Amino acid sequence: MARTRSLSKKQKERFIRLLCDEETKIQSIGRVGLDKNEGEILVLIRKAKRAIWNDTYGTCQECGSDIAFDRLREVPHAQNCLRCQTKLEQHHYENQMLEFRKSQHEKISKTG
Ligand SMILES: [Zn+2]
Repeated sequence: MARTRSLSKKQKERFIRLLCDEETKIQSIGRVGLDKNEGEILVLIRKAKRAIWNDTYGTCQECGSDIAFDRLREVPHAQNCLRCQTKLEQHHYENQMLEFRKSQHEKISKTG
């Protein structure tokens, strides 16, 4: 029941780039104590890339609502909206990555 969500060409390119960056990062850092192994995350990243071209990217797999762009920027391979994700509590990795990125953002915004 994947809903479609039209993104502009620019938005698609931006998210593709984010996903590629994430893919590179996962491949270079490996597990870093994640619950999921890097292979599973890479599968999600590739799935998300395909979804971008199928216009199904950014819609929650659980409830079908739009996933906030803020969330997609933080977790480009997110399959669920934050509400469903919290409910599912499956992807501890995402939280860890969020924390990690948040701390990096804070560092950057404090020094910048
Ligand atoms: Zn949802």
